[in-house]
Amino acid sequence: MDKMNHCNERYLRQAMLDEFANKQDILANKKVAIAGLGGLGGLCSYLLVGAGVLKINIADSDVIELSNIHRQILFNQQNVGVSKLDCAIRELKALDDRVQINSFAYIDENNFTQFSQDCDLVLDLTDNIETRRKLSKLCCQHAIDFVHTSVAAFNGIMIAFPYSDRDFIRKYGCYECLVGDTPKIKPQGITGPSAAMMASACAQLVLLLLTGNYKEAGKVYLYDLKNFSIKQAKLSPNENCPVCGGFHANSI
Ligand SMILES: [Zn+2]
Repeated sequence: MDKMNHCNERYLRQAMLDEFANKQDILANKKVAIAGLGGLGGLCSYLLVGAGVLKINIADSDVIELSNIHRQILFNQQNVGVSKLDCAIRELKALDDRVQINSFAYIDENNFTQFSQDCDLVLDLTDNIETRRKLSKLCCQHAIDFVHTSVAAFNGIMIAFPYSDRDFIRKYGCYECLVGDTPKIKPQGITGPSAAMMASACAQLVLLLLTGNYKEAGKVYLYDLKNFSIKQAKLSPNENCPVCGGFHANSI
């Protein structure tokens, strides 16, 4: 079987959908930066590579612990003590050996440019609000689209912030507008399925975004993973936001 037919077969069922027909070249040439390889980032990266996103940057500083593996399905008990980056690279390459992966043990102001270089999207799938706020700020400053997904107990949240569109920021603000002075919360319990549901929702949103099939703006999706409902709220800008306030002022 030649390479082309092989690829056609790989994506056969996905390409049956109108939204993904003739979109494999587009997906293969998109690049996504993923922060966090835990319960969300591991499965999300696996689903994205599986769908044909073949250029990714991944970042995580952690080593796999036994308490991770009930929800971090990229890893198993034999991987305890191994770096999440090393294990994720191995699993993602086993899924598709064409995938190009750059890995980062951390992200800060100094290496953010490298982490996000040529990326169409940065995904925040960390479990740390401070990292998330920093990432959002850097994405906003660099006009890079940002997607945030997280889960705590049975509550999931997912939001797309297309920061490359300055009109979006004027109308809806940024992640900092949403969280403001929200106090840091303690880690909460989580089931593996809760993490997997939100990882899957995020991967679906990213695939729709990358293929131009997601046209909503400013929506916050709030998942109740115990009663299986999704509520929607609307983002609104904070005129005094220290991150994007200037963009509002410019629009007056
Ligand atoms: Zn803001």
